[in-house]
Amino acid sequence: MKLGIITACLLFCCSGSFSWAAQKWKKMESEYCEIYFLNYSELKKINSKINVFSISLNFKKKIIKPKIKTKSVSEKVKRKFDIIFKKAEEILNMYPGGIKVKIRIYLNQKQLNGVYRKMFKRENKALSFYVYKTNTIYISVQHISEGVLAHEMGHCIIDHYFVILPPRKVQEILAIYVDTHLKD
Ligand SMILES: [Zn+2]
Repeated sequence: MKLGIITACLLFCCSGSFSWAAQKWKKMESEYCEIYFLNYSELKKINSKINVFSISLNFKKKIIKPKIKTKSVSEKVKRKFDIIFKKAEEILNMYPGGIKVKIRIYLNQKQLNGVYRKMFKRENKALSFYVYKTNTIYISVQHISEGVLAHEMGHCIIDHYFVILPPRKVQEILAIYVDTHLKD
């Protein structure tokens, strides 16, 4: 069964707490992503933590360095997420089409662990995780990076590409392949 598959991938460390449950999610949409975040001041941090300078993409059979031509922080974040998603598809050579992955960006690891505990009734050991059932990447501002995003986007692409999913170990190897080759 594909439903309910989770992929939690990296070792984690912990940090402080916030009263965040009452906060409302803000949403913005890019070509490949629905990005949910808790407040606009966090967007700047998210933007500064995601570096796509070293990522190149195939464009009409040429290798190009994708440009970010906007000054708006939210537009920059959207563009960066799309660049990483496109690159993940390119690395895997899998283009499942029609997917828009949701990304929920919590403030810190402690929040993320709380969400995981509520969902799966066990402790989280990852910096981020992807849930097929909700087609959502769960991640925090504290540990967000282009590598972690690429890895989880890889899981989303893999899970939507195969009709019969390969074994979990193989999925993980493929997702690791994405983040290790992100800047090739
Ligand atoms: Zn993984």
